[in-house]
Amino acid sequence: MSDFPLPRADLPTPALLLDVAAMDRNIAAMADYARSKGLALRPHAKTHKSGEIARRQIAAGAVGICCAKLGEAEALAADGVGDIHLTSPVVTKGGIARLTALAGKIRLSAVADHPDVVRALAGSGVTVFVDVDPGKHRTGVTSPEAAVALARAIVAAGLTLGGVQYYCGSEQHITTFADRHAAIVGKTDYLRTVLAALETAGFAIPVVTGAGTGTFAIDAELGVLTELQVGSYIFLDREYRDCELAGPRFEQALWVDSTVVSANTPGMVTIDAGLKSFATDAGVPVPMSGTARYAFMGDEQGALIGEDLPGLAERATLVPPHCDPTVNLYDRYHLVDGDTVTGSWPVTARGRST
Ligand code: PLP
Ligand code: MN
Repeated sequence: MSDFPLPRADLPTPALLLDVAAMDRNIAAMADYARSKGLALRPHAKTHKSGEIARRQIAAGAVGICCAKLGEAEALAADGVGDIHLTSPVVTKGGIARLTALAGKIRLSAVADHPDVVRALAGSGVTVFVDVDPGKHRTGVTSPEAAVALARAIVAAGLTLGGVQYYCGSEQHITTFADRHAAIVGKTDYLRTVLAALETAGFAIPVVTGAGTGTFAIDAELGVLTELQVGSYIFLDREYRDCELAGPRFEQALWVDSTVVSANTPGMVTIDAGLKSFATDAGVPVPMSGTARYAFMGDEQGALIGEDLPGLAERATLVPPHCDPTVNLYDRYHLVDGDTVTGSWPVTARGRST
């Protein structure tokens, strides 16, 4: 392991770089925004998988964090995070045993979309949210009647009904603000019918949790959600850079540094960052500056193509296409302040997808 501070040019690559000052400004901007709108903030830790970053979000005013997977929640709880909402369903006997053990250590809530799972959760001490499907059918109950039936099952099992989760994943990256706004208005109309059915059936719904970086300002304006689950705002990425976001302005805080390992052809160089260095679901990374474009060249390498290219053994800094699955490819964040690497943090829950 390197000693810090270290000149950025001496860091072995490919390396995941984090501008902590920019990230802290993003954390503060979202916390201020949520506070100004009277909304609870529970940032999604699936983006960063880091105990240190979760603690900074909570210190800035977040009520707790979200985790996507049980293993992620276990890792962050072991790293000192005391209030976690698990946004993906846990359905197996073994998983529910782990949930129960975790609920003995921290304040824990989870989601369900089937009464059988609710019955299996009886006695776990876990607060349960009704997961409502916004229409993509990934998870969640698919009608207001099913939401009411699930709420009844939660109460019948002796569990605390935490509220409703409604996460519109497919809408987050709609590029234009007007189209995204129209889509969320429609999705929120449906959510209102679900909440009305629950209220008519006599259920108090203390928390309605959802939203991502693409829609939180629209959700805040519509006033139905009470809690924001935003994740990517702390780092941004190329996908969100290409979206017309609303609300506070966030800064790019995460990069991958790479090195030119071959310059054997005019108009192109090869860098040491390929399929193992970036998530590949959202197109290609883009250089932080200049006009070159990136192309994947296999597991270990990529190409930069264009006119203003770095030379052999020189560096190239890239904006990842999609932040969360890129972070999960690295053991550590290297912390940068300009051209200096000041330290490093572990990606605490890296690979904890079970
Ligand atoms: N909530 C849930 C359930 C998610 O799956 C995600 C991300 O996929 C988020 C919140 C955070 O969204 P974003 O990273 O777009 O802010
Ligand atoms: Mn994502």
